[in-house]
Amino acid sequence: MSEEKSLNFIEEIVENDLQEGKYKSILTRFPPEPNGYLHMGHAKSICLNFGLAQKYGGKTNLRFDDTNPEKEETEYVDSIKEDIKWLGFGWAQELYASDYFEQLYQFAVNLIKKGLAYVDDSTSEEIAQQKGTPTTAGVGNKYRERNVEENLHLFEEMRAGKYKDGEKVLRAKIDMASPNMLLRDPILYRIKHAEHHRTGNTWCIYPMYDFAHGQSDSIENITHSICTLEFVPHRPLYDWLIEKLEIFPSHQYEFARLNMTYTVMSKRKLLKLVNDKIVESWDDPRMPTISGMRRRGYTSKAIRDFCERIGVAKRDNLIDLSLLEFFVREDLNKTAWRRMVVFDPLKVIITNYHEEQEEILEGENNPEEENSGTRNVIFTKEIFIEREDFMEEPPKKFFRLAPGQMVRLKYAYLVRCDNFVKDENGNITEIHCTYIPESKSGNDTSGIKVKGTLHWVSAKYAKPIELRLYDRLFTAEDMDNIEGEYTDYLNPNSLQISTAFAEPALLEDEENKAYQFMRKGYFVKDKMSTPEKPVFNRTVGLKDSWAKEMKK
Ligand code: ATP
Ligand code: MG
Repeated sequence: MSEEKSLNFIEEIVENDLQEGKYKSILTRFPPEPNGYLHMGHAKSICLNFGLAQKYGGKTNLRFDDTNPEKEETEYVDSIKEDIKWLGFGWAQELYASDYFEQLYQFAVNLIKKGLAYVDDSTSEEIAQQKGTPTTAGVGNKYRERNVEENLHLFEEMRAGKYKDGEKVLRAKIDMASPNMLLRDPILYRIKHAEHHRTGNTWCIYPMYDFAHGQSDSIENITHSICTLEFVPHRPLYDWLIEKLEIFPSHQYEFARLNMTYTVMSKRKLLKLVNDKIVESWDDPRMPTISGMRRRGYTSKAIRDFCERIGVAKRDNLIDLSLLEFFVREDLNKTAWRRMVVFDPLKVIITNYHEEQEEILEGENNPEEENSGTRNVIFTKEIFIEREDFMEEPPKKFFRLAPGQMVRLKYAYLVRCDNFVKDENGNITEIHCTYIPESKSGNDTSGIKVKGTLHWVSAKYAKPIELRLYDRLFTAEDMDNIEGEYTDYLNPNSLQISTAFAEPALLEDEENKAYQFMRKGYFVKDKMSTPEKPVFNRTVGLKDSWAKEMKK
């Protein structure tokens, strides 16, 4: 990335504020609702909030927006923390909006005392009806005229559990005719007799998002409260509440949500895929969740680089999934260890190699990484190559094996194809080659130059492994603009399972390494892998130059 990358608009605001001395340092927050696992959109928000604080010497709070008792769970809290840490960020404080319930209650009491909030006994249908429409003004009801004492008393009774769910709400008294529907006396508190994951049964009234979010920002002295564009119309209410409560003036700034091709990014929709067993779990490697991407082998660096590259937009846009894959490939190319794995084996017999002979060859782990060391690669008389690397009648530029053609076997020798065997159905069953003894890699005195190098494995020592090849989860490019249900667009081929044959070294590494299966793609061992049944996830494919040739 270029050094002189211009500032994004939020960075400009922050720099300005700091220059003007508005704040000594900045404090941002990431406010997830613990009702699902984090996805790529959240990763964008995390990189933005934590990234700003890092860049300008400030701090970031992690605040769980847990004001809705019904959908929230501790499992989600734990996964969110794990994902943020994995992305490479640390928070100043771990906070919960539910810790502010008493404070928020007092704020509400203050508003009532100022004549700026009232208890309304209307049903939700009545409230919706009285609210009017964007083109017609709403009307105030008789409850709007309740006096301060009555409101204080009723609100206390609401808290004490005297009323059933939906019987009463607390509303701000703003303007029933405002062109902004959200200012038409928005609901601040509702009754919900539900157990909360942290406060248990202490409360039966819960603040609405608009009465929790900005107030929590203010309690924490958040300087820049960054959210997505759908909250633009909420900003006047955010400001109104802070002004009337005379509390620390946090400011809200909005940017465009991240949308990506061939996927959905709504926790509700992702939860349904999990519940309906369309995917294995939240961390299914096809999911756009951070945990899914991690399990698939995406690196946190690739995700951070991607977020940096797409910048901070003011208008909604759709980002190509292949841009993220580009950053994944770029990072893995530098770090992944090379291994040879044959997906669709075709036996090659080296006719002039002795039956009993075996050689230990040396293969570098990663030519892009100094000091990455080497591993042993065993060479034997019978090996497997990819079926697609042999053609009986090759077209021009097919620099692989064909009768009379010569290739290099990676880390090993030059071999020439002399012959091949077909079964009664015309399928090629084995290939006969001769090797050139003086062409050994690293010590090649043959003087012969060839264009193609093939990966291979020893037929005797190859280990079977399970491959999980992933493709995009949905078939429509823009999943926000589809007809019908999003589940109608599931890609039936998003997961394909097959068996492949790996060089033994692949199964000898202890840690969770990233691999490049040479000429095939990037892979990582899956968490369900066992020594008896090794399983590897395809993280992302390589760019295949032959596939491009074929298209031509
Ligand atoms: P979802 O619609 O997936 O449920 P949400 O916005 O309800 O997402 P929250 O847990 O409330 O999820 O979001 C936490 C933070 O992440 C918020 O500040 C929100 O604006 C931000 N965020 C969520 N989705 C995206 C996205 N697609 N792009 C950028 N930021 C996002
Ligand atoms: Mg939300």
